[in-house]
Amino acid sequence: MNSDNSLISDAKNTWCPGCGNFAIQHAVKSVIEELEKEGVQREEFVLVSGIGCHAKIVDYFNLNSFYSLHGRTIPVATGIKMANPDLKVICFAGDGDLYAEGLDHLIHAAKRNIDITVICHNNRVYGLTTGQYTPTSPYGFRGKSTPDGIHEPPLNIIEMLLGSGASFVARAYSKKIPHLRRIIREAIMHPGFAHIDVLQICATFFNMTRFYDEQTYESSEANVSQFDVACRTGQQWDYSDQGPIPLGIFYKTFRTPLPEKREEREIDRLKAVRTILQNYS
Ligand code: SF4
Repeated sequence: MNSDNSLISDAKNTWCPGCGNFAIQHAVKSVIEELEKEGVQREEFVLVSGIGCHAKIVDYFNLNSFYSLHGRTIPVATGIKMANPDLKVICFAGDGDLYAEGLDHLIHAAKRNIDITVICHNNRVYGLTTGQYTPTSPYGFRGKSTPDGIHEPPLNIIEMLLGSGASFVARAYSKKIPHLRRIIREAIMHPGFAHIDVLQICATFFNMTRFYDEQTYESSEANVSQFDVACRTGQQWDYSDQGPIPLGIFYKTFRTPLPEKREEREIDRLKAVRTILQNYS
C-alpha cells in the first residue's frame, strides 16, 4: 500500500523496460481517476488477476484486489460480482492465462453476460515462463518449447467472443494509450460482459512493436450494434503475421446482465415474500 492517496502502490515494479503492461496500468489508472472525479468511490473497484506478467498489476495498484490462480480470474471475478453487484470488477488476464487455461470460463461468462470488464494483456507469448507459445501466437512461432516453430493457426479471439455472446468486444494496442484509455472507460461503463483484447508489447520474448505500429488502425465504430458488421471486422485480422489490424469497439449491444443490481434483487425478493404471504392468508 502507498502512504499517500496515489492509486499506485509502493510495491517494487519488476516488469521489463519497454513492457506494454506499463501502458495498460497507466490507462486504467487514468480512467479510475476520471471516474472518481465523477463520483465513483475508489472502494467500488475490485481488481482480479490470473497468473503471469500481467498479474503483478494488482500489486502495483493501491486498490482492493484478488490475485487468483492461473486461468481462474473470471470465476473469482464472477463470485465477487455475484456477492456484491454494486462493485465494478475488472479482470486482468494474460493470453495464455485466459485463452488457454481459462478459455472455458471466458466463453461461459460471455454467454451469461456477467457484468465484469475483462482486459486481456495479449502479448501472444508466455512471458513469465520465458517464451512459450500461446493460443494467439502466429503460425511458425519459435519459442523455447517449440524450437522448430508451431504448426497450428492462432485462435481468432474476436470471432470466438462474438460467437459466445459477448455484449461488448473490443481490441486496443498498448502503444496507443489515448485510444486504449477510451475503450477501457467504455468497457467499465458497459452494463454486461465487456472484453478488451489488448495487443500488449512483450519487449523481451516477442517484440511486435514495429509490426503493430505499421499495421494497426482505428476502425469505424459507426455500426457497433450490428453483429454482422462486427463479424466482418473481426475477420479482417486472423492473428497471423499479416496485417492490417483493426482496433476499436467492434460490438456493443444491450442484453440484461447478470447479476441484477442489489435494489432490483431486493425488489424481486420482496415480491416473492409478498406472494408467499398472500398464498397463506
Ligand atoms: Fe513484459 Fe514480456 Fe517482460 Fe513479461 S517478459 S514483463 S510481458 S516484457
